[in-house]
Formats: sequence, C-alpha cells, structure tokens
Amino acid sequence: MLATVNKIIPFSTVDGPGNRTAIFLQGCNMNCLYCHNPETRGKCMHCGACVNSCPTEALSFKNQRVSYDSVKCVHCDTCFKNCPYDSSPKTAHMTPEQVWQVVQKQIPFIRGITVSGGECTLYPAFLTKLFTLVQAHGLSTLIDSNGTLDFEHYPDLLAATDGVMLDIKAYDSEEHKRITGWDNSIILKNARFLASKAKLYEVRTVISPGLFDGEQTIMQICDMLRPYLPIRPIRYKLISYRPMGVRPQYAKNLQIPTANQMEYYAGLLAAKGFEDIIII
Ligand code: SF4
Ligand code: SF4
Repeated sequence: MLATVNKIIPFSTVDGPGNRTAIFLQGCNMNCLYCHNPETRGKCMHCGACVNSCPTEALSFKNQRVSYDSVKCVHCDTCFKNCPYDSSPKTAHMTPEQVWQVVQKQIPFIRGITVSGGECTLYPAFLTKLFTLVQAHGLSTLIDSNGTLDFEHYPDLLAATDGVMLDIKAYDSEEHKRITGWDNSIILKNARFLASKAKLYEVRTVISPGLFDGEQTIMQICDMLRPYLPIRPIRYKLISYRPMGVRPQYAKNLQIPTANQMEYYAGLLAAKGFEDIIII
C-alpha cells in the first residue's frame, strides 16, 4: 500500500484549522490551467533531464534512475522547472506507516494532518489506513481534493476523514471542462453528498476574471449547499488567481482579480447565508 509522496510539511497553518502536518501526494488526474503546483501532476519517468540543472549536485543518474540527496538540496526548485513531465526527482514511495512515523514527531504541536496533492484521492486505500492510524491518536484528518473520487463508494475512508476541502472550479460543466479537462457532475455530487454527511469542511474557488462566470458559479454553489448549512457550517475560501508557479503557456492568458472583485464575491456569499468566508 504505497503512495508517492511529493513532500511533507511538518507544520502548516494554511491547510485547515490549527497547526497541521501537511502531506502532498504525487499525481493528478486534472489539468487545471492555473495549477500552482504543476510539479505534483506527473510521474517521474527517470529521464535524467533535471540532473545537470541542480546547482548543488543533489541529483545523480545511475542505472537509468535519478537519485536525490536531501542533505545537499537547497530547495531552489530548479529541477521542477526543467522537468518535461510535470514531476519532481524528490518524490518518495512511502507506506501509511512510514508517513505516520514522520507525523508522530509533531504530535505535541499539531491538531491534525491534511493530505493534499496533486490529487490525494488517487490513493484511497493509503488514505484510509493513514487516517485510521492518525485518528486513533486523537488527531484530526482532512482531505484537500478536486472531488473526482466518488466518496459515496468509500465508506471506510469517509469514516476516517473529519472533513474534506473541496475545489469547485466552476459550476457550469462546460466551463469546468475548459478549465480542468473534466466534466463536474461527480464534483457537484460529492459536494452535496459530503455536506449531507457533515463532512464538507470547506469549498474553494479560484477567481480569474474572464476565465469563467464567477458570479454564476458562486450563486449556484450557494443555492446548492445552503440547505446543508444547518448540518455543519461550510467555510468558503475565495482564492485570487496569482501567476506564481503557473506554467508559462497558461499564465500569460490569465488575469488577476482586483480586491474589489473579491469583496463583491464575498458579499454574494454572505447574502446567501455563508458566515465563514475567507479571501486569499
Ligand atoms: S531543489 Fe532540485 S535543483 Fe534545487 S538543489 Fe534541490 S534537487 Fe537541486
Ligand atoms: S523529475 Fe522529471 S526531469 Fe527529473 S528525471 Fe524525473 S521525469 Fe526526468
């Protein structure tokens, strides 16, 4: 039961409530135009193209495989930028027990863990095992997901999960397909299902003017989720598109919203009964 791990951040205050260990799994089934972590999308093909770009000789190529020396790495990210496969030479294959060993070191200082990606639900059995270990020690478990796994078919994973932070990138299916390559019917189904089970902790939408109809998306998501608010409050995070990390061929066509536009969208949410609204 292995997952490919991109990185583990021991302490994060931006991946859910409180101080958390954030685990980023490698691989994604979407291709979002504004992806801010494209190096988490693909699988390392051991092509060796990144090796000579490393300024500290932390990478080497032997027997047709790339090796990574974490002691020599200065985290300059040059290797990601030279990868033709949207991957990283720094990934590691780990069992849930190995990840738990890393998490355990932070127990006195964290409220829980958040698993993100890439798309972490590509590894449902791994997540179920890891979360079961984590919950048994009194820590909370959150998933950061694009919503393409049908959660209704994974009751054991849902039982071990305290909340899901769900990206809804557009309400209109054609717009969603244009942004991500995916129709959004499963994502909207998951939003309703998770909200009905009190497992929808947060919804996120990235705002980039002209990319999709932001107002329609927010109004329709609100109308869809408002009936579930009495079951569990749902945080809505509005994320301003920023070009940092975005692949250059897409970044040149995307716009950054103004602060006024973001406030306007937050006002729409508040008028529809959402109380926990964050703009970042
Ligand atoms: S981030 Fe990549 S390129 Fe930079 S030092 Fe580490 S291994 Fe080398
Ligand atoms: S990280 Fe990318 S460039 Fe480096 S060996 Fe793997 S596939 Fe090739």
